[in-house]
Amino acid sequence: MAKVGFIGLGNMGGGMARNILKAGHELKVFDLNAQVVADIKGQGATAASSAVDAVTGVDVVITMLPAGKHVKSVYLGPDGLIAAAVKGTIMIDCSTIDVESAREVVTAATEAGMKMVDAPVSGGVAAAAAGSLTFMVGGTEDAFSGAKTYLDAMGANIIHAGKAGSGQAAKICNNMMLGIQMISVAEAFILAEKLGLEADKLFDISSKASGQCWSLTSYCPVPGPVPTSPANNDYKAGFAAAMMLKDLRLSQEAAQSAGAHTPLGAMSRDLYEKFTDMSADDMDFSGIINMLRK
Ligand code: NAD
Repeated sequence: MAKVGFIGLGNMGGGMARNILKAGHELKVFDLNAQVVADIKGQGATAASSAVDAVTGVDVVITMLPAGKHVKSVYLGPDGLIAAAVKGTIMIDCSTIDVESAREVVTAATEAGMKMVDAPVSGGVAAAAAGSLTFMVGGTEDAFSGAKTYLDAMGANIIHAGKAGSGQAAKICNNMMLGIQMISVAEAFILAEKLGLEADKLFDISSKASGQCWSLTSYCPVPGPVPTSPANNDYKAGFAAAMMLKDLRLSQEAAQSAGAHTPLGAMSRDLYEKFTDMSADDMDFSGIINMLRK
C-alpha cells in the first residue's frame, strides 16, 4: 500500500480522501480549513502542517482545489509541491480548472521528473463519497498508469482522454452540455405547466423519449419525479450554481481561444451569471428553473 498526500478536503475532496483510506493507503492531509482536517484525522489520516508537508515522504499526491489559481499556487514556485516532492512522485490534480493552467502545471511537474495527470471528475458530492466518480484523465500513458490505482479507489469510470490538459478539455465540454441541458429541461417543465401538462407525466414520457438526459433523470429541476434531486430539498446544492457558472465561463474562454462557435454555451453562461447574482451561495444549479419561471 502507498503513502498518499491529499490537499483540499472540501465537499468533493473529503469523500475522495476517505475512499483512499478505505482502499488501505496511508493518508496525510492538508486543507486551509482546520475543521475538515480534524474530521478526517479522527478516521485514520495524519494531519500535515502545510501543503509541502503533505507531499513530504509520500509516493502520491492528490489535489482537489477550487480553481486554476489555487492549483498553480500550490504546485508551482520555490515553495510549491513540485519543488518539494522527490522525483517520480505521482501527482494527480482532480480540480476543475482551465486547460492552460492544467498544461502549465503538468509540464512543470513532468520537467521536474514527476508523473502528473490532470484528472477532473464528473459526479457530485454523493458520487465522491460513494467512490463512483467518472475521471477524465490527461497526461502520458506512463503517468496515467501510475495514477490509475488511486483513481480506481475513488471512481467507477477512469478514462484516459489524451495528452496533458485533455481531462480538463473533456470536463468543460461535458459541463457546457450539462448547463445547456439543465436550462432546456427547466424551460420544458415551465412550458408544460402553462399547457396544463402535469410535471410527473412529462417526466414519465421524456425520461423514456428523445428528451432524456441526466438533468432530467438524475437531477430533475421540479420536486417529485426524482426524490434525490435538490428540487426536493429547497434547491440546496448538490452542484452549486456558482460551480456551474465557473465551468461555463471556462468553456467560453476555451471556445474563444480555440475559435469555436458555441452560442448556446454563451447564453447559458449569461443566464447562470444572472442567476448566481440573485441567489444564495449554496443554491443548486437546478434552481435556475425558479428564475426562468419569472
Ligand atoms: P470546496 O470549496 O468545497 O473545497 C475546496 C477545498 O480546498 C476547501 O476545503 C478549501 O479550504 C481548500 N483549499 C483552497 N485553497 C487551498 C490551499 N491553498 N491549500 C489547501 N487547501 C485549500 O470545493 P468542491 O466542491 O470540493 O470542488 C473542488 C473542485 O471540484 C472544484 O474545482 C470543482 O469545480 C470541482 N467539482 C465539484 C463538484 C461538486 O459537485 N461540488 C463536482 C465536480 C467537480
